[in-house]
Amino acid sequence: MKNLEKILVAIDFSDSSDKAFNTALFMAKKFSARLVLVHVINEPIDLRGFYVPHISFDKLEEEIRAGAEKMMERFCRNHFEDFDNYETCIVPGIPYQEILTIAQDTQADMIVLGTHGRAGLDHVLFGSTAEKIVRKASLPVLTVRLSEE
Ligand code: AMP
Repeated sequence: MKNLEKILVAIDFSDSSDKAFNTALFMAKKFSARLVLVHVINEPIDLRGFYVPHISFDKLEEEIRAGAEKMMERFCRNHFEDFDNYETCIVPGIPYQEILTIAQDTQADMIVLGTHGRAGLDHVLFGSTAEKIVRKASLPVLTVRLSEE
């Protein structure tokens, strides 16, 4: 493995991704690596103008995006004190696909993510995003488990 220069951490604002973030930050400091925080806005089902033509889905999407950006700003304010070697990336789509694409586009050296997200499926070993990324990624993936899972 080449030097660890860029670490992608997948943030869905769950306790599990919080823990993954702490691990990623620890590693970024140790290796002087850059952190790329990625949040994927799950694609709302595309019902544009189908049932309720008077509702603007473009407006709804704009508001969802603005809300996601606010959450990410708050997250960064609360989690970064003495570290500024990071960037954030918010995109709509299917989480595992977007995370893998951004990992490739940003030339990340490692992906860090929680074993579970907001769906809270504690009975399965991995959540579906985690499982798909572990199966499909061509770069190293570090999964971080919440201790109480
Ligand atoms: P899951 O497999 O969906 O239970 O989630 C496992 C981990 O994948 C979470 O702890 C996050 O690190 C990451 N993840 C899940 N959904 C998203 C998302 N929409 N955006 C960014 N990361 C996500």
